[in-house]
Amino acid sequence: MAQTWKRLGIMGGTFDPIHYGHLVAAEGARHAFQLDKVIFIPAGRPPHKTKRKITDPHHRWIMTELAVASNPYFDTSTIEVDRPGYSYTIDTVREVRNLYPGAEIFFITGADAVLEILNWKNVNELLEMCWFVAATRPGYPLGNLKRRLAGIDPEHVKRIIPMEVPALAISSTEIRARVQEGRPIKYLLPEPVEAYILNRGLYK
Ligand code: ATP
Ligand code: MG
Repeated sequence: MAQTWKRLGIMGGTFDPIHYGHLVAAEGARHAFQLDKVIFIPAGRPPHKTKRKITDPHHRWIMTELAVASNPYFDTSTIEVDRPGYSYTIDTVREVRNLYPGAEIFFITGADAVLEILNWKNVNELLEMCWFVAATRPGYPLGNLKRRLAGIDPEHVKRIIPMEVPALAISSTEIRARVQEGRPIKYLLPEPVEAYILNRGLYK
């Protein structure tokens, strides 16, 4: 049963859509930190992304399911999409802790997103509850991150672990623009996700 997992990864994101950048970061963290499981949690309605219209959570969750199906260590959760109102990472981490008591939690993000958490609510409580794995991402070098962390409590900085992953200059924004403009998205994301996007006419 799930309760036996000792080391649990959480990969949060809008996943609009999920792509190989997310998957490479999650698999890199799984291996580096010997995680028993990585749970992908599509955001319900992220507070920092209110400017653009976000695709229906149902579509984003299905695409995430399609993307993780081939990896036995990967799973998805609807805890954020089922929660009404804004989603805060702190609430998600609390909920995962209740669901898997005793598990060591590793929250996997790109280096850019770690910079955002410094502005999140309850950053100290968050860093007490879990580790943060910050994956390199083109345009967001780890050096940047280290400079920004200089201001926060060293005890908490220890909880943020930088991780090199193969640089994939892929973003969901780029994929949405490509679909809109009729340019290819093949080889940027898993084929079942590509098929889902094209069949449903998403991002047109
Ligand atoms: P958008 O362009 O809409 O912002 P995105 O590609 O940044 O989408 P998100 O869903 O915002 O994707 O990202 C979820 C998490 O995955 C974030 O922590 C982000 O930093 C990380 N991430 C996204 N793309 C990559 C990538 N190419 N390499 C490493 N990490 C990534
Ligand atoms: Mg982003």
